[in-house]
Amino acid sequence: MARLIDSDHHASLKDYERIAHLSNDVRDLRDEAEMLLPKLQGRRVWMVNSTAHGGGVAELLPPLITLLRELGVDANWLVMESDEDEFFRLTKQIHNLIHGAGDPDLSNGAHALYEKVSHSVAARLAEFVKPNDVLVIHDPQPLGAGALLRERMDLTAIWRCHIGLDEETPETIAAWDFLEQWAVKYDHTVFTAPEYIPRCLAGRASIIHPSIDPLSHKNRDLPVHKLAGILANGGLITATGPTLTPPFEERAQRLQRSGEWAPATEPEDLGLLFRPIVTQVSRWDRLKGWVPLMQGFVKMKEALKTNTLSEEERLPLDLARLVLAGPDPESVTDDPEGLEALQEVMDTYLSLDPDLQDAIAVISLPMTSPVNNALLVNALQRCSDIVVQNSVREGFGLTVTEAMWKRAAIVGSQAAGLRQQIRPDLDGRLVKDAHDTDDIARTLTELLLDQEHRDAFGLSAQQRVHNEFLVFAHVRNWLRVLTETLD
Ligand code: UDP
Repeated sequence: MARLIDSDHHASLKDYERIAHLSNDVRDLRDEAEMLLPKLQGRRVWMVNSTAHGGGVAELLPPLITLLRELGVDANWLVMESDEDEFFRLTKQIHNLIHGAGDPDLSNGAHALYEKVSHSVAARLAEFVKPNDVLVIHDPQPLGAGALLRERMDLTAIWRCHIGLDEETPETIAAWDFLEQWAVKYDHTVFTAPEYIPRCLAGRASIIHPSIDPLSHKNRDLPVHKLAGILANGGLITATGPTLTPPFEERAQRLQRSGEWAPATEPEDLGLLFRPIVTQVSRWDRLKGWVPLMQGFVKMKEALKTNTLSEEERLPLDLARLVLAGPDPESVTDDPEGLEALQEVMDTYLSLDPDLQDAIAVISLPMTSPVNNALLVNALQRCSDIVVQNSVREGFGLTVTEAMWKRAAIVGSQAAGLRQQIRPDLDGRLVKDAHDTDDIARTLTELLLDQEHRDAFGLSAQQRVHNEFLVFAHVRNWLRVLTETLD
């Protein structure tokens, strides 16, 4: 029902300090921690969420907890577990409702089920959490359990909600009606944007942006030969890759000249690297807009039949491939809809003509080794010319921050979180709507034909992530919220 996780995060503040462009960030963080730490002395902090791997929260907790510990905070990580599939179906329904989607009917025993599982999770958490501790509960799954502990014990409890929508709909109202009785028991709450705070928590919430860790396996630099090795080992580059065509051959030569590229295989094995790649990496969730993205890409390819560009001009469009990658849904326990969502993507893919299928790869990434999975995501994002996040709803897409850090040109939807991350025409492009397949096709076409803009977007995006969305700002913000809540 709850399991203590040893964060498998190995970078320390000294490692970041050694990197020239990060050393100032570490110094600022140390300075602030020195001021705030006395208030946290003797208080144990427990972060609780519902999965150790897969999804944004599991991604951002290890560096956050490791750096808090290194600065002197007794921070720990607990994962709640439940073998009640129905419970995770219910919390997934609530997750979708907070995003304004899905069936708002939460009767039919939903309250009783949520309460029952919350009681048993609370009992298990109570084996770890003691009076005077600080409990930080992430998202709706363990919300009830945390509220029950707060009632029973003299501790400080903070609820961190990572999801949200910037409007009120019948769906969001149903979700907040359901969660309110639990959420109001907390001493404080944290959201990603002011617009996401529900009425019932107005005046009791702080804002923290999620962050990424520049030294994690997911985000660290990869020299091109390592990148190719990771893709090859992961089975993502095959010997049947297409022969190099002039512009891409040039790119290969440029890399070889710069010493960045030491090919372990024949150049034609690296076909994937030398065709323009458009990628989306996400969980298999309908709200990630997989199917309309594929349809938009197909429209872009189909428009080539009637387009008037010369053969050379249109080459990037002819060669472009779409890579859709997500975690093997069998191994993600808190997301019961993953398999169905992947099936829908596959059904769309299988309905396409063979030449279109050749231009699209749907990849279910193995999760057996989290490190290998992270390296594969890293390599895929790095070899992409464009990274898309076509979410119908998104509180804040870590995948976008990850790709921005790697200087990919980003195409996002109008989902509320993405609008906060991507400054249109500065860091990337926003399509009109995640379902607007014409606009997706148009935007991809324009960007694939415009390397200059792609480069400029990538540069600006990386700078923005450095300034606002790296782990240092995240740790600083948590130190502030923890100490302010204890005041
Ligand atoms: N992710 C991963 N492996 C995959 C697919 C996704 O590690 O096969 C990661 C991805 O890199 C990102 C996180 O899962 O760090 C997804 O977070 P995001 O905020 O984009 O979406 P969420 O899953 O929280 O809705």
